Amino acid sequence: MTIHEEIRELAAERNAVILAHNYQWPEVQDVADFTGDSLGLSLEAQKTAADLIVFCGVHFMAESAKVLNPEKTVLLPNIAAGCSLADSITAASLLEWKERYPEHTVVTYVNSTAEVKALSDICCTSANAVSVVRSLPGDKILFTPDRNLGRWVAEQVPEKDVVVYDGVCPIHDIMRGADMRKTIDTTKDAIVVAHPECREDVLALADEICSTTAMLGVPAKYPDAKTFIVATENGIIHQLKKRYPDREFVIADGCIGCRLHCPYMKVTTLADVKSALLNNEFAVDVPHDDLVGARRALERMLAVPRDN
Ligand code: SF4
Repeated sequence: MTIHEEIRELAAERNAVILAHNYQWPEVQDVADFTGDSLGLSLEAQKTAADLIVFCGVHFMAESAKVLNPEKTVLLPNIAAGCSLADSITAASLLEWKERYPEHTVVTYVNSTAEVKALSDICCTSANAVSVVRSLPGDKILFTPDRNLGRWVAEQVPEKDVVVYDGVCPIHDIMRGADMRKTIDTTKDAIVVAHPECREDVLALADEICSTTAMLGVPAKYPDAKTFIVATENGIIHQLKKRYPDREFVIADGCIGCRLHCPYMKVTTLADVKSALLNNEFAVDVPHDDLVGARRALERMLAVPRDN
């Protein structure tokens, strides 16, 4: 029996649902029941009758799954799966910024801890950030923690005063427009797709700027395009190739995706997933007050329609 088959058998025995983020290794994506972005996966978990959620992603995602599914056990198969962006903001640093901007409504990207979400007025994803900011009655916004996403959102909503926190996803932020330009120059007639966590000079060269979920729909919008340059973590290529086997996808860093490679996302292996199911490793818990506060911020966001 292959390890893939063993995992599927264990999942059935334990009434578990396996969720995998679009940035996981291809073999981890393939063993999952559902693949997608972090919030989409947590919402998927709400729809299933599974008792156990195995979240192949990073810690803040497993926390969100627990916040939205508090009665279920949520396992993160590799406890080393952290996130530099989520770590760039703490409860203490957010409180400090809130003191500096007391009249601002705090909009926090879901790539943050439950503790930080709980101190925020509302959450957003990269798919709905513009709609969330637009939907707010106040004109003063404190956007946390990703400064690239925040700057891009501020551009789309010029009628609001958007102050942006100084956090960043190093995987996206490492790319420069020069990397992208090199890839565009060596890849003829390609459509360029970029995630809004990328820097301004990278986004300026993109035909489409969107979340990972929306990226999976981009090739359908361009039926005549053969090649797509993709500026996000390289795991997304697996899902794109599965959906569009006759198209070509090139990672934008001019380095075969070696820099657009998140070490936290890629720390989880099939052996970890099997061990999680066998040994209940590693159960994610969220303190009650954080869970209640984070759920309020997430539910407020869910009431706002998505942009794309
Ligand atoms: Fe965090 Fe990695 Fe996602 Fe960047 S790509 S936000 S570091 S998990």
